[in-house]
Parts: sequence; structure tokens; C-alpha cells
Amino acid sequence: MATPPPSSATIGRWLWPALGVAALAAAALAREAPAALAAAMLAAGACGALAWSERRPVAKPERADPAPAAQALVELAPLLEALPDAALLVAADGRIAGSNSAARKQLAFEAAGLRLSAILRQPDLLDAVHAAVHDAASRTVEYETAGPVDSHVRAYVAPVQWGDAPAALIAFHDETSRINTERMRADFLANASHELRTPLSALMLLMETIGGPARDNVEDRTRFLAMMQVQAERMRRLIDDLLSLSRIELDEHVPPTDRADLAAVAREVVDALTSLAGERGVRLTVEGEARVEVVGLRFQLLQVIQNLVDNAIKYSSRGGAVIIEVGTAMSREEVIERAGRRWPDAGRIALATPPPAGGRAYAYVRVVDAGPGIARRFLPRLGARFFRVEREMGDERGGTGLGLALVKHIVNRHRGGLLVESEPGRGSAFAAYLEHIPADAPVSAKVSP
Ligand code: ADP
Repeated sequence: MATPPPSSATIGRWLWPALGVAALAAAALAREAPAALAAAMLAAGACGALAWSERRPVAKPERADPAPAAQALVELAPLLEALPDAALLVAADGRIAGSNSAARKQLAFEAAGLRLSAILRQPDLLDAVHAAVHDAASRTVEYETAGPVDSHVRAYVAPVQWGDAPAALIAFHDETSRINTERMRADFLANASHELRTPLSALMLLMETIGGPARDNVEDRTRFLAMMQVQAERMRRLIDDLLSLSRIELDEHVPPTDRADLAAVAREVVDALTSLAGERGVRLTVEGEARVEVVGLRFQLLQVIQNLVDNAIKYSSRGGAVIIEVGTAMSREEVIERAGRRWPDAGRIALATPPPAGGRAYAYVRVVDAGPGIARRFLPRLGARFFRVEREMGDERGGTGLGLALVKHIVNRHRGGLLVESEPGRGSAFAAYLEHIPADAPVSAKVSP
């Protein structure tokens, strides 16, 4: 027997809920899609949701059925609730007729019936609601809110039919983290350009001098050429560090599964930096366990230790000693005690912290110097790109201010931790710790190249 074609009532029964669901999809897409598209989809979806409520015959006043608006609200409530963002239904008189719990939490209000203007004073948003209700216009409004944490909100306002009357549906999308990322990118670009321009300007000045006033003086030319070499070397270091940083950021979310011997890497760094340390009159020593297997990429661990030891040498005075210690601990608490809490009067900070992982053993490398130390007030800024204490103090030592940022990113990628202890007059100790593979553990990770 042939199946009869679906009746229009049946179609209506499924079409309108489907349109309602489009509202959910629109709100989910609003995170990714351009604002206008998202708003349009949201509006379409919301209209669908409300039209769903209207597929029923309009209740006759003489019957005891609920009013159309109240009925529409009952049906809209679960849809509003399912939206990932805060959402409000605002009636033509400016009162909040419906809301989801995300909106009540975000905007800190309890009951329906409040005027929208009582909880939100953004003139553009109130205008957009007015335009939605009176001109059936959709708008997207962006605004900032000040508070303990400033936030940036994008609100999509769409006209909807609520029962028999026009109303406005608002979906609020928090754009704070996107805006912050954009600002950080812009700041980073400005800082990087500035840092590169400084040695470049010096180079150009020196070239002019060599080609002009110093042209006929061999001694001056030789001196200026040596100065050019220093500036060119600074540019090369900056570019190398910037490239390493961007490469690490690219795969920061992919934790390595390789294994490497932290003690062997530390010895390798010491071998590579002994002659530099000798030139500066600084003694390097490695202490601790001879073989310590960790989960990690050997070449990145090399970068971590190299940067820490390089700094320790750079900031030590002649005759100073730098000690590199490699050790292990059974838990995160123990590694923090052993690698980061040795000096009772020191300022300390954790620049990176691993996610909680019960039962994990850790290995650490702690690099200690007897240099000038770092004042407490500067500790929280360590690891921020281009931050240099000396610049704040008006003394330049030619660093890039990218070394610790690099270390921090690598440690984060390894789901490890980075601890600093420092005391002006005593010195500084930087410790990186990572997951340790005890000698009796089954072999699961592969050996890092
Ligand atoms: P830089 O290339 O300038 O050394 P880093 O990111 O490695 O850049 O370090 C940032 C800043 O932290 C340094 O400029 C310095 O002020 C401070 N710092 C890092 N390590 C030490 C240390 N061992 N002793 C004293 N200050 C340090």
C-alpha cells in the first residue's frame, strides 16, 4: 500500500522544531562565523523557534488556553537554555521576557520582568533592541565592560515575533580572549620590530661613518667594523629566538612522547658552554644523578638548559660559579620542595605549572648562580617576551628578552614546570621539571634523536 503524502500539519510539526534547532546551530557557529552571517542565522533560527510556537492555532481569549506569548515562552525556554552563549528575549516594552541561565549568571539578575536598561546600560545595545522591535532590523553590537576582569562582548540582536507582538532576541558572545590574542599579536609585532630596528639603526650609522669620516683611518674602520659585527650578531640572535619561539608555539599543544636523558643533556650543555664561561671567568659544574630518563624531546631540553645556563653565565660576576643540578622526585609537591624552595629569604615564582597528574614522578634540572639576583617585583614579568630587568634599570647586557619565553613554552609543551628562586645579593636559581621515567618503568616512549 502506498504511503500517503505527509499532511501539512505533519510537515509543520517537524519543520518548525527543525528551524528552532537552527537557532542552536547558529549560536554555536557564531563563535566561528562572521558576525553578520551568524546574526542572520541566529535570527532565522530564532524566528523558526518562535514560529514553531505559532504553528498552533492562536488561543481564543474565551478559552482557558494560556496566552500566546506565555505559550511561546514555554516552548522557547528549552531552546534558549540549550544555546552555548547567554541569550535574552526582550519584549516590546523593554522588559526581559525570557533568559537562559548563562545570561542570568553573566548579567547577574534573577527574575524575568526586569527592564533590560536596568541591567545593561550600553546605549548601542538598547538602540539595537529598539530597532529590532520597531523596525524588524538585525544588528550586531560590540562593547566592553569594566570589572575585576575587563571583557569584550559581541551581541547579536534579531527581531522575533513573540506570541502576537514583536520582540528582540539577544545572544551575547564573549570575545575577550580573541581580542586579547589579537592585542598580544599586535604588541608582539610592534616589540619585535622595535627590537630589530635598534641594531639596524646602529648598523646604518656605523656604515655611514665608515663610508664618511672614518674612510681614511684604518684604525677607526677596524673598530667600527667590530661594532657592526656586534650589532649584526644581535640581529641574528633576535631572529633565531623569534623563529624558535614561533616554531615552539605551533606545536605547543602536542606533548612529546619521546624519551631523553636529562643528565646527559645537561653535560652536553656544559661541554658546549665551558669555553664561554672560561672567557667570563665563571666556573661551571654539573651535580646529581648520572642518568635521568624523562619524557621529552632532547633538542628542546637542550634549548631549555642552554638558555638557563647561558643566562646564569651572563649575569654572574667574574670568579662566580654556576651549578647545574639534576635530580628526581616522587611527586609534584616533592619536586617543588627540592627544586624550588631552598632559600628561605628568596622571592619565588612558578612560571609554568604542569596539569594535575596523580602518581607521576618528576625529574628536574636546577641552574644556580651567584649573580645579582632579581628583585621580587620583577619576578612575575619573567618569561614575558622582550622583558629584561636591565632595561627597566637602564643597564643593557645585550640579551634579547626571549630566552625565558622560549624556556617557558618548551616546558609547557612538555607539561612540565618552571620554578624561579631569586634573592638580590645571593643569586638566582631556575629549575625546570618534567615527567620522570624511573629505571624500572616499562619502555613505552621512544628515544629522542
Ligand atoms: P635575555 O636574553 O635578556 O637574557 P631572558 O628571557 O633569558 O632574556 O631573560 C629575561 C630577563 O630575566 C633578563 O634580561 C634578565 O633581566 C633576567 N634574568 C634571567 N636570568 C637571570 C639570572 N640568572 N640572573 C639575573 N637575571 C636574570
